[in-house]
This record gives sequence, C-alpha cells and structure tokens, in this order.
Amino acid sequence: MCGIIGILGTDLAAPRLLDGLRRLEYRGYDSAGIATLVNGQIDRRRAEGKLRNLDAVLAADPLPGVLGIGHTRWATHGVANTTNAHPHTSDRVALVHNGIIENFRPLRAELEAKGYSFDTETDTEVIVYLLTDLLKQGLSPKQAMVQGMQRLDGAFAIAVLVTGEDGLLMGARRGSPLAVGYGDGEMFLGSDAWRSAR
Ligand code: GLU
Repeated sequence: MCGIIGILGTDLAAPRLLDGLRRLEYRGYDSAGIATLVNGQIDRRRAEGKLRNLDAVLAADPLPGVLGIGHTRWATHGVANTTNAHPHTSDRVALVHNGIIENFRPLRAELEAKGYSFDTETDTEVIVYLLTDLLKQGLSPKQAMVQGMQRLDGAFAIAVLVTGEDGLLMGARRGSPLAVGYGDGEMFLGSDAWRSAR
C-alpha cells in the first residue's frame, strides 16, 4: 500500500504535497517523489528511502508549480531505488500509481513494439506509455484516460498530469482507494480522505 496526493491549487504545490505524503507515511513506503506542471511542462524530484531524503532533494532543487502529484511507493515490481520511484513520466504524461497492473507484461511488449522505450522495472510505466500513445493518436486527455483504464487488469489508483494542461488533474481508481477533495478554488486527490485533509 502506498500513498497518493494530488493538488490543483493556487499556492506552491510541492511543500503541500510533501506535507500530504507525511500524513500518509503510516501506510509504509520505500521511496517517494513529486511531479508538478510548470508552464505546461512536467518537472519532478524523487528519492529512495524516507521523506526527509525527498525533502533534502527539494531543498537543494525546489520544484515550482501549483499543480502536482506526489507518491510514496511500496515496491511490488522492481527494486526500491530512485529510478523506479514514482512519478513516472514521458514527454506527455506524469503519473503515480498505487496497486498492481496484472497484465503489464503483454502491454509492455505491445508498447515496446510501437517504439516506446522503458526506463524502469515497474508495472506502472506501461500506464504512462499507454496514455502517451492514446494522446499521440489524437484523443483528449479524458478520452485517453477512459480508454487507457479499460486496457488495465488489476487493482489500482492513479493520478495523472498531462503536458500543456495546466488546469487538469486526473485520477482513476479500481479496487484501491482514491478520494476527491473540493477546496476553495482548489481540488485534491488523496489515498486517505481523513488523513489527507487534516
Ligand atoms: N506496483 C507499483 C510499483 O511497484 C506501485 C506500488 C505501490 O503501490 O506503491 O511501483
């Protein structure tokens, strides 16, 4: 079990995402990361181990932006290191995932045959390139999410950023929790509604 936080807000997202991840530490994790969208482009920071390591990375190299996603990972596929830490990204998508994609092997083979090259050992990365491929086919982000989710077997919660979509935070869930929070001119996603909001 890991933790997901998403914020589409008005203040700097990274410190708030880190604070949200701290509230989800009780769920257990081995690495953590945050991605934000700045002028339509994805940027991210990740670290193996405890959140203080991610905090140090962010202190040395701050992440601007008011829209972002954060993740604490509990590795199921691929060792616990920075490369396998979420968010995973392509030139179009940044994504965090909780759960297991049972059919990631055939999906990975299909996407590799289309020319996508993978950076990680995770099951999660197939979702990144599945969505990227659908976006490149001309689907809207929402259409890509709907069609992409239909290809996945297993239990998951995910949160997604798309390049060029500064006002868009997308989430999806099947069998894993993901709560939606409504603030004053802000929107949130969180693995645990009570702890994320306090
Ligand atoms: N299966 C994914 C991975 O190994 C997500 C694990 C999790 O829920 O933290 O990266």
